[in-house]
Amino acid sequence: MPELPEVETIARGLRKTLTGKRVESLNVLDSSALRQDESALRKLVVSRVVESVERRAKLLMLGLEGDVVFAFHLKMTGRVLAKPGDYAPGARDRIVARLSGAATLSFQDVRRFGYCLALPVEDLQRWPFYATLGPEPLSMGREAFAARFAGRKASIKSLLLNQCMIAGIGNIYADESLFAAGIHPEARPVDLSDERLGALYDSLTAVLRKAIQENGSSIRDYLNAEGEPGAFQNSFQAYGRKGQPCKRCGAPLQASRVAGRTSTYCPACQRRR
Ligand SMILES: [Zn+2]
Repeated sequence: MPELPEVETIARGLRKTLTGKRVESLNVLDSSALRQDESALRKLVVSRVVESVERRAKLLMLGLEGDVVFAFHLKMTGRVLAKPGDYAPGARDRIVARLSGAATLSFQDVRRFGYCLALPVEDLQRWPFYATLGPEPLSMGREAFAARFAGRKASIKSLLLNQCMIAGIGNIYADESLFAAGIHPEARPVDLSDERLGALYDSLTAVLRKAIQENGSSIRDYLNAEGEPGAFQNSFQAYGRKGQPCKRCGAPLQASRVAGRTSTYCPACQRRR
């Protein structure tokens, strides 16, 4: 599933190609990608200029002329690609938007869990999913992070994955940041000092920044806006490396189920306290 670095990479790519262009037409090839009537979507999107392309959590958000947001939740396998004006939609395409300046936006999704939604900015807080998103890890700061997690009794892994606690983190970047900080995925914040929580924040932000620099991680379907894979999967220290030697101490990495997800960690380097 695309996480914060992947969606950030897509947003940066689309920003370059779509900003300032007007949506001329919208072709809905699969209405299950919508969360509103097609006519309502059209009214909010067609003939408006794309003023901004942003990311919030794992959401890609196009800011349209007249205070409208056109949001995409990519879920498992969603992609949003910038294509040329003569792009011919294929079987993966769910929505295709034609823009001025010979640009095309293609929303593709093999597993079809993703969706898009357009709404006036003033209604954003009435979208329950959006309204409950936690703070952005890259801008919340170390102290706010430690204060938010301190004293909690749930496993740190489940808290990192909880989008209401902190936004944009999924299995890859939770495992990678816990490994970098030497914290066991089942550790509970109540057993960790503020210092250790602060170290986790530093690891998390360092991992996210490096992943953004490398255009994200391509392990399944993820491609950036230009259709290119990311490279951060080559830097994984923990994720997907069960049974392989720890890059720090050589012990074989273990995997266990935490918060319903596979967690890979080093039993020697990652401590519960
Ligand atoms: Zn180790």
